[in-house]
Amino acid sequence: MGGKIIKDEVLGFSTENPHRPEVITKSKAAIAPDRMVISAGAWSKSLCHQLGENVLLESERGYNSTIPDPNIFLDKQIIFGEEKFVVSNIGNGLRIGGAAEFAGLDAPPNFQRSERLVEIARTYLPGLDTQNSQNWMGHRPSTPDSLPVIGTSARYPTVYYAFGHGHLGLTMAATTAKLLGQIISAEKPVFDPAPFHISRFDH
Ligand SMILES: Cc1cc2nc3c(=O)[nH]c(=O)nc-3n(C[C@H](O)[C@H](O)[C@H](O)COP(=O)(O)OP(=O)(O)OC[C@H]3O[C@@H](n4cnc5c(N)ncnc54)[C@H](O)[C@@H]3O)c2cc1C
Repeated sequence: MGGKIIKDEVLGFSTENPHRPEVITKSKAAIAPDRMVISAGAWSKSLCHQLGENVLLESERGYNSTIPDPNIFLDKQIIFGEEKFVVSNIGNGLRIGGAAEFAGLDAPPNFQRSERLVEIARTYLPGLDTQNSQNWMGHRPSTPDSLPVIGTSARYPTVYYAFGHGHLGLTMAATTAKLLGQIISAEKPVFDPAPFHISRFDH
């Protein structure tokens, strides 16, 4: 549809023209888009700060282990509420995930956390074979009020935000895209976006 995809790291912005800030990328390109959506997960905080926006956002790190040949089959996901972990069949194995860790964006993963979840899962799932399990850590972009940040910038008319979906970014992605698309196109939104506006952090 005439779009162009550029894969690059955004280093910052030039706001010399406040009606149309420019994006500065690692490969030194300066792009001046008609509209800009900042949607960089937990990394959105530093980008917003560069635009002078106040946002409370922290990485809530989570862990999982994927076991390729678990030796057991689950036809449903099981949530172990008291122990706070989830076991899911993901087609090519079993995934055991959970944990919420506040250690920022740069600290190395502490895979003792995922290994501990596997250990607990073994006590509930007799016969579980945990050989060759692959550990993973990811960053949930979390806000203190558990609401995402969706909508217009408080400062720049061509800048929009879509981040901060915490534990539910995959679940809410399509709804967020629909809502933001309506905001950008000045259509009547499916629901009131006011609670998600970035200016709530100013109060
Ligand atoms: C263990 C775990 C389990 C989860 N389970 C679920 C679940 O079951 N259901 C669910 O809905 N959600 C789940 N989530 C949450 C979900 O993963 C997140 O909410 C979601 O990934 C957020 O999507 P995002 O696109 O906003 O951010 P991200 O997925 O973090 O993507 C941000 C992207 O921006 C890029 N980026 C950052 N800075 C820059 C820059 N300066 N320039 C260019 N690119 C940049 C990053 O490289 C990254 O690709 C889980 C998270 C974890 C950790």
